Amino acid sequence: MKYTIQKLTAALLITLTLTACGGGSTNYPGPPLLVTDDGISTISSVNLNYAIALLPLEGLNAYESSSLKYMREEEKLAQNVYSQLNNTWGAQTRVFGNVSQSEASHTEAIRQLLVRYSLTDPAANLAEGVFENQTLQQLYATLIQQGNVSYVDALKVACAIEEIDILDLQNALVNVDNQDIRIVYDNLTKGSRNHLRSFVNALSMIGVTYAPQYLTTAAYNAIITTPIERGN
Ligand code: ZN
Ligand code: ZN
Repeated sequence: MKYTIQKLTAALLITLTLTACGGGSTNYPGPPLLVTDDGISTISSVNLNYAIALLPLEGLNAYESSSLKYMREEEKLAQNVYSQLNNTWGAQTRVFGNVSQSEASHTEAIRQLLVRYSLTDPAANLAEGVFENQTLQQLYATLIQQGNVSYVDALKVACAIEEIDILDLQNALVNVDNQDIRIVYDNLTKGSRNHLRSFVNALSMIGVTYAPQYLTTAAYNAIITTPIERGN
């Protein structure tokens, strides 16, 4: 009997706690990913830290640590390329400048995970356009060269970056099980799908139909035939 009462009391306490959290509009700051009507998808570090602080610090395997370092630089590459494309094409469109700012929040989100796991930041003190990873260094040079050819080429370069980002994040998510990393990667993937939609839309507004360069046609169509995704 006493045991039953204790159980009931415990159940009641849990219910009360859940109610308090569920109704916690005073505490919950909002979703990690903030999305504008035109798809610009930015990570709020305050909202992300709120979500991550609730999670235990799990052990990190070799794949997860190398993935974090690589994605830190891949998001930096997106930010740096869009920044350069904004220098070249900023008079024609705000999209590169806007997405560049959003990518700064993506690479910062991963930097915060590196800090959380006490890992060395490969991008610490690296100037714009400079990368520790030589594959990304070469990719950067190629993309800048292509993106300076014409406005259409610049938008196609941007679409390619988002396609590569989606594929790399999806592949990483197969092997990453730590919840905090998964939250960041899931939100960055969603952001990349939104950015791809934005750049494809910018191309269609000047009469250009984009064909995917990395994603399968089916995967690409699944993205561009569905609306901008909001954070949750
Ligand atoms: Zn990104
Ligand atoms: Zn992006």
